[in-house]
Amino acid sequence: MEKIISELHFKAIYIIGFVLGIPILVFVISIVGGLLHSLIWINTLFGGILVFGLIAIGADGVWYYEFRRSEQKIQQALDNPPIHLCPACGNEMVAREIEKKGSLGIPHSDLSIECPSCHTQFDSYFPFQSWLVVEANAEKNKDFAWLYGGENLSRDEVVLIANGKYTMNAIQKLRARALPIISDGDFEQLSSWDPQLLIKDQNVQIYLNPPNNSWGLSLKDAEHIWFVSNQVTFAEQRTREKVPYLLKLDNGIFFITNLKYGFIGRIKNLDKKLTEITSIQEERLRLDVFRKNRISAEYFLGLDAELASSILEGLTKLL
Ligand SMILES: [Zn+2]
Repeated sequence: MEKIISELHFKAIYIIGFVLGIPILVFVISIVGGLLHSLIWINTLFGGILVFGLIAIGADGVWYYEFRRSEQKIQQALDNPPIHLCPACGNEMVAREIEKKGSLGIPHSDLSIECPSCHTQFDSYFPFQSWLVVEANAEKNKDFAWLYGGENLSRDEVVLIANGKYTMNAIQKLRARALPIISDGDFEQLSSWDPQLLIKDQNVQIYLNPPNNSWGLSLKDAEHIWFVSNQVTFAEQRTREKVPYLLKLDNGIFFITNLKYGFIGRIKNLDKKLTEITSIQEERLRLDVFRKNRISAEYFLGLDAELASSILEGLTKLL
């Protein structure tokens, strides 16, 4: 508390000093100038004060505006840090303001966001438009490879961290934390899901909680879409000479709403209530859905199957 008061005090003294200091300086310059011109010194004095006083007030105004703007930006960043999860390890980051004194003892503030777990740190300097990684807990070893907490880090990963983007390690951790919560039916997690955490394959597009329905789904009043994935392949199991294999039947979109799931393709359409699902299995890009009155599963390939399965599981719990 005492520290805050003394900082405010210092800022106030600085503002007052700046506001009064320049006109006083102008006053002194005017007197000296006026005296040099002996007879017309009084005119020069008032003229000088007027002109330079106006310039001083203008300069103070601009300075104070910038000062207020920087204070606001600092507060915004502290309330809602732009990088709130560590791009390297996925843990919560902490934002803080760093008070500094620059040249001539002018106080200013910088911003810092730091991960308490791995010490990845970003700083931002006035006018706080970008964040610069100042520490990634990574060091170059003699083989010119980056080490991160003793593990090798690729050049791509170093670039990701420097840009505040998640590494695969962080993505895996964050997914492992969020997916069980979604499976338990907590859809707050899904609403705030970071698109960086989606597993994407080439040009597969996934839409989470889309606000509009441009896929032509017929929706009931209380129904809304949670998940849509483009370029999904629909397949069924067949057997050839007693050897089972997957027969790809169509390409299209796979969707999940709070009441149903299904597939819209060129020749194959599927629209089933969630209550029909008996079990789900998933691999990275493959979702197997078993439903009532069917012996084998229906297979959907080329989507974020882990996420889709967690959503289906969570929704079934909410029914
Ligand atoms: Zn970290």
